[in-house]
Amino acid sequence: MSLAQGRSYLAIPGPSVMPDRVLNAMHRAAPNIYAGELHEVTASLYPDLRRVALTSAHAAIYIGNGHAAWEAANANMFSRGDRALVAATGRFGHGWAESARRMGVTVDLLDFGRSAAADPARIAETLAADRAREIRAVLVTQVDTSSTAKNDIAAIRAAIDDAGHPALLAVDCIASLACDAFRMDDWGVDVTVAASQKGLMTPPGLGLLWFSDKALDVSRHADLKTPYWDWAPRAFAEEYWQQFCGTAPTHHIYGLREALTMLLDEEGLPHVWARHATLARAVWAAFEAWGRGDSGVRLNIADAAARGHSVTSARIGGPEGAATRLREWCEREAGLTLGIGLGMALPAEPEYHAWLRVAHMGHVNAHSVLGTLATMEAGMVALDIPHGPGGAAAAAAVVAAA
Ligand SMILES: *Cc1c(COP(=O)(O)O)cnc(C)c1O
Repeated sequence: MSLAQGRSYLAIPGPSVMPDRVLNAMHRAAPNIYAGELHEVTASLYPDLRRVALTSAHAAIYIGNGHAAWEAANANMFSRGDRALVAATGRFGHGWAESARRMGVTVDLLDFGRSAAADPARIAETLAADRAREIRAVLVTQVDTSSTAKNDIAAIRAAIDDAGHPALLAVDCIASLACDAFRMDDWGVDVTVAASQKGLMTPPGLGLLWFSDKALDVSRHADLKTPYWDWAPRAFAEEYWQQFCGTAPTHHIYGLREALTMLLDEEGLPHVWARHATLARAVWAAFEAWGRGDSGVRLNIADAAARGHSVTSARIGGPEGAATRLREWCEREAGLTLGIGLGMALPAEPEYHAWLRVAHMGHVNAHSVLGTLATMEAGMVALDIPHGPGGAAAAAAVVAAA
């Protein structure tokens, strides 16, 4: 007998669970790319991309993943030898820094470790010390998907302004857009980076950028731009093909169209954020209960305000390799795939196997999250992994109270 038979469930932080409606919207013959419906559907995406980022900024769509979107942002902001200030709160912050470095940007790295948000005061100090005003942009993740730390973007904008520094603020929202509240215009963000496969519930394959007029001005002089990565022809296309510098991502366009309709027109962005916030609290409540009595289970981010609402990183205590054993049990015995611990230790180190991540981003609801948590609890019981009692019940209580 296997209790894993039945529909399996993927709780890894991207690709996220995709609605059947999104997949069905993509299930079609290749459309004409020269005229007709595809052009109208594509045109309808831009206003909705602005709505989902709460901005009136320009938007550009790339065929690519998140790494591609980083390079797109870098190419338009920097010239070779320009300086960037990267505030890293986990592996993805370091990843963006590395992508800029390898493109020829000089990176000043502020490393805030893997278990806390960035300190805006340190960003302000670093910018104030840059008297020559050489730093072109501050790069930061809103939520770093490895540590699951969330940064206070409005406070970082205020830090830049307090320092009287002209640097652009560029934010990686790949793991947080349409999960955590994000207000591009209110928070003074110049460049927003996202991708299709997380909160946007669409298969991997689209990199998304939003950029302010100030960022557009900077990009005019950015010599890392190439014809493919230049955002201007995409955002201000005179001919259809220019939006993608070639063939359009035809099926992704239909998928994203459906996802944006679900998020913006049916559920509504404030409700999308509230759903993620509540489900995140349910996850945290389970871990807090499991962590009682020195079990060794603990959330990576102690401060709830600094936790992302789309994914949770936690350490599982007990015998060596407990998190990996639990992940394997959940997949084999229950059809549930949890995320690996990323960036907390190297894969060769025993500590690596003490960490895991639970994704709760995108097309998730109370039953999927409660099912995930109850399954994890069953696995901890089955494997004799030390844990405090009542995790699933604590999560259920959060859902009930909401
Ligand atoms: C997933 C993710 C990335 C990388 O995206 P890919 O599509 O895997 O290239 C970058 N930053 C953050 C915050 C992410 O969550």
